[in-house]
Amino acid sequence: MTTGLYVHIPFCRSKCGYCSFASIPWKEALAERYWRAVVREMEIAVAGQERAPETVDTIFFGGGTPSLLPAGHIAGILDACRRLFRLDPDCEISLEANPGTLTNEKAQAYRSCGVNRISLGGQSFADEELTAIGRVHTVRQIAESMAMLRSRGPENIGLDLILGLPGQTEHSWFDSLDKTVALAPAHISIYMLELEAESPLYQSVAAGRQTLPEEDSVAGWYLQTIDFLDARGYGQYEISNFCRSGCECRHNLKYWLRQPVLGFGAAAHSFDGGSRSANVADVARYVRAVENGMSPVAWSSVVDAEAEMGEMLYLGLRLNRGLDWEAVRRACRSDRLVDCESALKEMAGIGLVEWQGNRVRLTRRGMLLSNEVFQQFVQPWADH
Ligand code: SF4
Repeated sequence: MTTGLYVHIPFCRSKCGYCSFASIPWKEALAERYWRAVVREMEIAVAGQERAPETVDTIFFGGGTPSLLPAGHIAGILDACRRLFRLDPDCEISLEANPGTLTNEKAQAYRSCGVNRISLGGQSFADEELTAIGRVHTVRQIAESMAMLRSRGPENIGLDLILGLPGQTEHSWFDSLDKTVALAPAHISIYMLELEAESPLYQSVAAGRQTLPEEDSVAGWYLQTIDFLDARGYGQYEISNFCRSGCECRHNLKYWLRQPVLGFGAAAHSFDGGSRSANVADVARYVRAVENGMSPVAWSSVVDAEAEMGEMLYLGLRLNRGLDWEAVRRACRSDRLVDCESALKEMAGIGLVEWQGNRVRLTRRGMLLSNEVFQQFVQPWADH
């Protein structure tokens, strides 16, 4: 089995109004110590392994805003990956970037150091929507970033949009989609806006200062989006993800297929096939721990049979291909599988899932109500 590496880069220019990710404002001195700490953490992890590390076939720099980091830091981390792990020659190396943080030099440096996939956080093609959610970039900068990447950077580019933004209308949503498709990315992610109660945008909406579009409207736009993108050559392969044929994000597929991913950096999660763990989220604490030769792991837990079954179901069902039920039966050690099979058969009766022979998958209605469907299956690490 091959392994993926995830590297968390926690710095952002400023905090977006809806953000619930582990991110802090840019601090140059801390960023300098941070990338060295990530390399040190990798060295310690590899030194502690009894057997040779598996072949690494995906690396993902997520954040935060990894493109805020000087390209030299990214190159330094990738050098360490090559020194410490066996990298597959066809390794997918992705980096999340935000418009306004790229330059031609950076785009070129990414390509030179081996980054071969960029995921660009466009979010909307309406400036007033970007302002409403506290993004620090403009629509023009999305196109400029795409142009820089196209001329000098990695060729495989994904563009992310958010559905359900304050002030968004059917017209502005499909205008954003039109403009996204016109830029011809290989991959498009469509995320539904989800607000944590403590986020500034949630508070603003609760206080009536900003208004979200009606839930029913957003649900309708999502369903239309699947057909809209399909007609333009972007097939849906996961609830939120669409791509040209063969351009799925191989790293993210590992999460849904429960394949091992080792995480490095503050708040990074790891799964080794049998247990899950996460590093401390506080960036300064993470750096201090690694610099002092201590473990940055905040918690770890063995995935028991029950949790394993829950994961197989709610992660696998996110994919359009769904689950091969015979394979689930063979792999699953939990006695509760029979109950889950009955639950899925009941859900088929109300149109949330569909069975085709041995395969079970969400219907479109099931995708809209996926949180309700997944609640049937335990989420083992949600407590952490
Ligand atoms: S760019 Fe992403 S990680 Fe950074 S504050 Fe905005 S939503 Fe959060």
